[in-house]
Amino acid sequence: MSNLDVHPAATVVGGREDVSARPVHELLTGKLVQLGESTQVRRLLPTLGRRMVGAWCFVDHYGPDDIGDSTGMHVPPHPHTGLQTVSWLHDGEILHRDSLGSVQTLRPYQLGLMTAGRAIAHAEVSPREHPRLLHGAQLWVALPDGHRNTAPNFEHHATLPVVDAPGLRATVILGEVDGAASPGTTFSPLVGADLALDAGADVRLPLEPDFEYAVLAMSGEADVDGVPVSAGSMLYLGCGRRELPLRAADTSSGLMLLGGEPFEEQIIMWWNFVGRTGDEISAAREAWMTGDRFGEVRGYDGDRLSAPQLPPTPLKPRGRVR
Ligand code: MN
Repeated sequence: MSNLDVHPAATVVGGREDVSARPVHELLTGKLVQLGESTQVRRLLPTLGRRMVGAWCFVDHYGPDDIGDSTGMHVPPHPHTGLQTVSWLHDGEILHRDSLGSVQTLRPYQLGLMTAGRAIAHAEVSPREHPRLLHGAQLWVALPDGHRNTAPNFEHHATLPVVDAPGLRATVILGEVDGAASPGTTFSPLVGADLALDAGADVRLPLEPDFEYAVLAMSGEADVDGVPVSAGSMLYLGCGRRELPLRAADTSSGLMLLGGEPFEEQIIMWWNFVGRTGDEISAAREAWMTGDRFGEVRGYDGDRLSAPQLPPTPLKPRGRVR
């Protein structure tokens, strides 16, 4: 997925000042963002109040949308640097194509993990023949300085480890849950897990006290540490927890747990790039516009995305902006 804003703001994120060392409850309701003609998403990260959760720096939740009578998702080729993208579906299918030549249909509860590293380009569309419903999340993970120029890579993991407890089915997307580890490549200590709660579930999930965490509700409503979180919202939890109480009332619910070691480095996010300096971001934009560095997404029928104009003020990493 791409940030399709015509005038994207630069976001400076990372560093410790924003991280709550103690358990907190901070409910994020997100904002509606139009992605192209067809898709509307709820953006949970970054928001004005909260920029990162561990290395997770971007969270869009979309659907469930009825796309039975439309072409569905249609995101033309666009570039990424300095991050990984995580595609996660509850319903529907997405056809991923990238400049490495990967062509992969992504299905519910499968991991599409794209490491941009130095440079990659990709396109994401609904296949011509597609299921009626589309429901998922698109997330980005910032790469730490030592790995952000790593070679680009695409991984598809059709099966992932599952941790079962009464009323809970936890699918490990990245990192580790209760000793079960995802095969997805990570570059900093973090976790991503899908938590399917049955109606009436009352469970405690083991956590890492040094990680900060948030829980995104994708469907239904659940009590997360006593706070009701409904579909489309995310509860930031801070650090310092060894376990997380989860309860589902009279309906089942679908949650995502996101967590990780607080990300110490300050980064600049602009459009689809994560960098460290304004010059670097500007060079990435230039490279995309002149056809350098990012390669070509073959087999996509249509034009690639143009980069928006850079903001008139220079992009600089600065102190906290909250
Ligand atoms: Mn993308």
